[in-house]
Formats: sequence, C-alpha cells, structure tokens
Amino acid sequence: MIAILGGTFNPIHLGHLHLATQLQASLGFDSIRFVPAALPALKDVPAITAEQRAEMVKIAIANQPHFTLDTRELLRSGTSYSIDTLISLREELGNQVSLCWLMGSDAFAHLNAWHRWQELLNYAHLIVVKRPHSLDLSNLNADVKALLEKHKAKTAEEIKHQAHGKILIQEIAALDISSTDIREKIADKQDVSQLLPSGVLKLIQTHHLYQT
Ligand code: ATP
Ligand code: MG
Repeated sequence: MIAILGGTFNPIHLGHLHLATQLQASLGFDSIRFVPAALPALKDVPAITAEQRAEMVKIAIANQPHFTLDTRELLRSGTSYSIDTLISLREELGNQVSLCWLMGSDAFAHLNAWHRWQELLNYAHLIVVKRPHSLDLSNLNADVKALLEKHKAKTAEEIKHQAHGKILIQEIAALDISSTDIREKIADKQDVSQLLPSGVLKLIQTHHLYQT
C-alpha cells in the first residue's frame, strides 16, 4: 500500500508530518511519497521556488525510512494537476497496488474544484483527516457530499483489498498548524520553532525565506 501526500509545502511543517506519521501508524503503508506541487492549480504562485520547497521536504523527512520525496511534479511543465501525478504513478507502479491520496478535510471540502476530480478515484483511494478550522464533514457541498456517500469506506480493510475507489475518513487529532500562519509569523519576526522541524527552520533562516 503506497500513500501520497501532495501539497505546496510552503513550507512543510509538523502538521504535515503528524498527519503522515499518524496514518502510517494506523494504516501501515509501505511508503508515503511527499509530492510538492511545482505550480499549484488553486493557489497563488508561491514566493519561493519549487526546488526550495522540495529541499525543505527532503530535510524534514530525512530520518524517516518510510517517507520519500517524489519530485515528479517539478519535472513536468505547466500547472501541477494531481490527476496527472496519479496517472504517472499508475504507469510506474501498475494497477494492482493500493494507492492512497492523503489529505486534510480543508482540501477534501473543495475537491470538486480539482482538475478532473471525478476521475481521481479511478486511480487512488482518498484518506481524509479532519483539520482544525476546516468545515465539518457533514457540511460538504452537494458534489463532494454525493461523492463521499457513493464511495465511503466502512472499514480500513476496504482500502487494503482494493487498489482504488474508496474514501476513508480517519479520526486523528490533526495539529493546528498551517503554512500560511508560519509565513505570516516569520514575516512578523515571531518564533516558529515549535511548528516545523529544526532543519527546515535553519534552511529558512540561512536563505532569508518568508522574511517579507
Ligand atoms: P497553506 O496555509 O499555504 O494553504 P497548508 O498548511 O494548508 O498550507 P498544504 O501544503 O497546502 O499546507 O497542505 C497539503 C496537504 O496537507 C493538504 O491536503 C492539507 O489539508 C494537509 N494538511 C496541511 N496541514 C495539515 C494539518 N495541520 N493537519 C492535517 N492535514 C494538514
Ligand atoms: Mg491550506
């Protein structure tokens, strides 16, 4: 079972790592691939480069044997669409292995804005964790709600025995940390040392990232 955590990682923080560690512990993935978006579809262009964001991911996961950096979105041109990443992963890994896309409830709530969102489940399962300040999963918009009702997994066993097609809601205590908050705090000269790995903070300081 292979998991994918896609994101802008601008910067990667302990909320991302906690999500990955908790789901790794409960679901037992063979690996979790961290996939930084080169050019995110639904966000402003990040002020720092994709290479810098990927470098921070690399530093953050360096001591975790099950976590790997996957730079395929940096090697493509144009907007980074998750559907293209999934198609490319299937070409590489085949159709048999269970592929699980990990995301917070904030991302899931807007899934119907994703490029070709109705096809995502043809390639992967979605594993969703509740994130602080994100809307309640009982308040989803009609499109996402219908998708969840149709594909909801009743047990975690279902995502192990099928290669794709299920949505599993996992109850973990997600940390109240976001990249936006970290960027604002750094620009405001506040202490962020409790919010991200020390090696990532060191790189941010060395290159004076997010200072304005
Ligand atoms: P930004 O504030 O710039 O939007 P972010 O903190 O939301 O950044 P992303 O890189 O956009 O981070 O997130 C990538 C994925 O990780 C998304 O699916 C998001 O829901 C999830 N995620 C981010 N932070 C957390 C957290 N603290 N707990 C659980 N999931 C998280
Ligand atoms: Mg976000």
